[in-house]
Amino acid sequence: MSYRGRFAPSPTGVLHAGSLVAALASWLDARAHGGVWLLRIEDVDTPRCVPGADHEILRQLAVCGLHADEPPVWQSARAAHYQQALDALAAAGRAYPCACSRKDIEAAQAAAGLLRERHAELPYPGTCRPERGGLAGRPGRAWRLHTGDAARIDWTDRRLGAQQQDVASAVGDVVLRRADGLWAYQLAVVVDDAAQGITHVVRGEDLADNTPRQILLQRALGVPTPAYLHTPLVLAADGCKLSKQNGAAPLDLSDPLAALRAAASVLGLPPLPGSALPDWLASAVAAWPWRASVA
Ligand code: GLU
Repeated sequence: MSYRGRFAPSPTGVLHAGSLVAALASWLDARAHGGVWLLRIEDVDTPRCVPGADHEILRQLAVCGLHADEPPVWQSARAAHYQQALDALAAAGRAYPCACSRKDIEAAQAAAGLLRERHAELPYPGTCRPERGGLAGRPGRAWRLHTGDAARIDWTDRRLGAQQQDVASAVGDVVLRRADGLWAYQLAVVVDDAAQGITHVVRGEDLADNTPRQILLQRALGVPTPAYLHTPLVLAADGCKLSKQNGAAPLDLSDPLAALRAAASVLGLPPLPGSALPDWLASAVAAWPWRASVA
């Protein structure tokens, strides 16, 4: 097996304790399998990106001794590839333009008797599906993947075990290109994982429920599905996932080894020997617990 993994941060801020866990886990898994580790800066959601955060993230990783094996890729430079994928899906009848505003969608959901619970998302009701009349003269805003009427995805996470979701009933037709013209994360991540030949995705558990959508999209595009490992999250004081939104402090890298030790303990690694960075990283690779579970 020729293993290719990646760390794919969104530069909406610099690394914090939670993102270091995902970075370290993906690096350790790659090294434990003699694989290649890549970096991809996921800067498609430009209004949320913080200028300079991308280079600061690369610097933070380097301070922690986590060096990519190939030059980093910026998603902002890859629009032509996303367009090509969207064109292919549209030509195959798997993507269609959508004229709905958020209000239109809520009205259609209410008319169908769907009630939204707090913070829950309701599936897109399929208003603009071609078989239901398409745009009907309205201007197209977003592009969506046609999931079909049933789109049950069964998959196995290396840590969480057997998972399943019917994307059609849980999410509905996935947005590929947003109404504001920006590329959606789901499309960009699937196109890039395929283009970079990623065999193993290791990332935070908050993204586990995105995986069925991504597998559906991989199948629609005819690209391979990588193995997935979703890592434990660092929780903030309020019990929610630590994130830039709930005030995660940037990593204090005055002592990189202390930051790495904290990340390793979230990953369930025992206290490890090594007082110099390279020695500690080598003992962490040797102790990596998910080695045997590679598909
Ligand atoms: N860019 C995403 C994030 O920072 C991660 C994408 C992924 O690993 O698939 O949340």
